Amino acid sequence: MNDGVLAIGGEEIGLGETRDLELAVAESFTGSPVSIPLRVWRAEQPGPTIFVTAAVHGDELNGAGVVREIILRNPFELKAGSLLLAPVVNVLGFERHSRYLPDRRDLNRCFPGRAEGSLASRLAYTVYNEIIMNSDYGIDLHTAAVRRTNFPNVRGDLRSDDVRRLAEAFGCEVIIDGAGPMKTLRRAACRAKRPTIVLEAGEVWKMEPHVIEWGVRGIRNALIMLGMVEGERSAPPYQAIVRKTTWLRAKVGGVLQFHVAPGDFVDEDQAIATNSSLLGREQNVIRSTSEGIVLGMTTLPAVAPGDPVCHVAIPEEGVAKLRRKIRGESDESLHERTRETLAAGMHVTEWEEQGEVESET
Ligand SMILES: [Zn+2]
Repeated sequence: MNDGVLAIGGEEIGLGETRDLELAVAESFTGSPVSIPLRVWRAEQPGPTIFVTAAVHGDELNGAGVVREIILRNPFELKAGSLLLAPVVNVLGFERHSRYLPDRRDLNRCFPGRAEGSLASRLAYTVYNEIIMNSDYGIDLHTAAVRRTNFPNVRGDLRSDDVRRLAEAFGCEVIIDGAGPMKTLRRAACRAKRPTIVLEAGEVWKMEPHVIEWGVRGIRNALIMLGMVEGERSAPPYQAIVRKTTWLRAKVGGVLQFHVAPGDFVDEDQAIATNSSLLGREQNVIRSTSEGIVLGMTTLPAVAPGDPVCHVAIPEEGVAKLRRKIRGESDESLHERTRETLAAGMHVTEWEEQGEVESET
């Protein structure tokens, strides 16, 4: 809790102040300064400080859309505490529409960084010291990697009660439990006792309206839980903890016709996609190896053997129980709209077997 002055980037920001900062992180080839834009928003009342970072991977724009939505439209009133909002952390990758930095390093494998290290390491160092260490909690916004999409899900190391509370409050259906890869922003933040979660939602190079809605809703939910915003949290129709996920891959080359969409429940052995040649000769049918929730899918329907097709999350509690909880969910709910929208850009058809159409999931 910070009830005094917050010192970031050489500036001091008092309670009740909102300030836009530029954190100097590098210099371009022309010698011009390169900086990370940061909005510091402090309520009159003291309370926790929470950071929201986006585009640590420079092509993952959905998170930047979420942060901009908060900055541009003020979707909630901050009653207590402070918000540090960084719409684009990897500014050099963002300039190139690239996940990586110009030195080809992944910024999200460089935390906590070093002041005298590589370009990526220096950038991580500034973010770690100025943003993360000045916060009590954190939310880091990501998307699926290129050519894939993710049904919105939260990742966190649930061994920490504070991470668990944050992950549950955010309000995604699926929470993936795990510490995350070494040297990621969230792992370094959690190690420094700044409980931090990651949102994985949507695709690269887009600001998708339903993902922005998810992100803003989740952040608002988290702030309500932390006592920083007043109001009621919006809860998802179900919440499942996942410790195991599996990728279904193409066995042969061909073009896919999908039979499921991100967010769907699947049974073991259910048809996920039909893989056929360009002239329609059926190569094979890709089936789910277990029951679960479709977490992510390829958006590129032309595949070679080994290409990932579908990422299935296997929840701790059985799918039948979860399925009952979404029965009666309105088509207008965020859950259903997200499912519809993510599937809109894919060719999803019902799976037919021996003339019989399998019941829809
Ligand atoms: Zn990412």
